Amino acid sequence: MNKCDVLIIGAGAAGMTAAIYALRAKKSVILAEKAMPGGQILATTKLENYPGLPGSTGEQFAKNLKQQVESFGGKILSVETLGIARSDEGFVVRTDDEKVIAGAVIIANGSRERRLGLPLEDELTGHGVSYCATCDGAFYKDKVVAVYGGGNTAAYSVMYLAGIAAKVYWVFRKPEPRAERHLVEKARSIDNVEIISSHEIVSLAGNDKLTGVTLKSSSSEEASNDPRGLAIDGLFVTIGREPDNGRFSDFVELDGEGYIKSDESCTTSTPGVFCAGDTRSKKLHQLVTATSDGAIAANAAIDYLNQN
Ligand SMILES: Cc1cc2nc3c(=O)[nH]c(=O)nc-3n(C[C@H](O)[C@H](O)[C@H](O)COP(=O)(O)OP(=O)(O)OC[C@H]3O[C@@H](n4cnc5c(N)ncnc54)[C@H](O)[C@@H]3O)c2cc1C
Repeated sequence: MNKCDVLIIGAGAAGMTAAIYALRAKKSVILAEKAMPGGQILATTKLENYPGLPGSTGEQFAKNLKQQVESFGGKILSVETLGIARSDEGFVVRTDDEKVIAGAVIIANGSRERRLGLPLEDELTGHGVSYCATCDGAFYKDKVVAVYGGGNTAAYSVMYLAGIAAKVYWVFRKPEPRAERHLVEKARSIDNVEIISSHEIVSLAGNDKLTGVTLKSSSSEEASNDPRGLAIDGLFVTIGREPDNGRFSDFVELDGEGYIKSDESCTTSTPGVFCAGDTRSKKLHQLVTATSDGAIAANAAIDYLNQN
């Protein structure tokens, strides 16, 4: 069984920043990461708003952060965390591999993509249905794809995919996308992009791989509300994100939307358990606030360990 001072759940920007702070304070740290270290930032093509790093790619940012963690001796375990419990020695963190005993825990598990909730979605995920254009776009060279959603991430995905695929449909429910105007204009001006506004996806088609979707008008003014089939090879779903804290709900208090409640020091309702980044109940879920939370949570965990 592994033992450490601070167990951090999630090696995204928040978790890795927390690790740097805790390691520099000479605490032993284990980062438990179920996927690729970096988290959401890996899906960002260009970072335009992180102070001091204009134009850096998310991938480069994640790589630098991981190297920084490792340079201070940080260890990243490839495991999924299943839950937390108390023990005489501190906290027992259950993973899909082994248990870890920790003096303090920082939950930095971010958020997950919101899903369509349609039949066949699970079966077709990874077989035509994707939630990340920069991760999976390369599989669709010269193919026909659709991006579903009207926000900034959708607009970036459209522009990114237009450089790879033969054709990109941009489908969203409202008459106008809610993405920033300059992004919408840029996407609209691309030759192989076709916009389908005021439509929602009502079903997916395909056996072992996606072959198309059915669209239905979401506008009451539309002359015909007949469903319309769209033959595509790939569907990129970008309809927002949501927290994934069910497994911690017995242990820390959540807000009405499922984000973890904490005070200004990122302390949750359970002393010794802290949270950082997108998992935390707060107004602005961004990279800069994730790294900021990581530093604050680590500092609070260090204080907790020194006092207990
Ligand atoms: C496409 C896209 C573009 C973006 N662009 C920008 C931008 O330009 N500027 C900006 O400021 N922000 C941007 N953001 C938001 C920003 O990336 C996030 O706010 C930030 O990265 C959140 O970091 P985090 O560490 O809190 O969470 P995440 O990055 O979500 O990391 C959480 C990590 O925890 C892991 N994990 C989850 N559950 C478990 C578990 N049970 N066990 C083990 N590991 C687990 C996940 O695999 C993940 O690696 C963007 C986000 C996306 C998706």
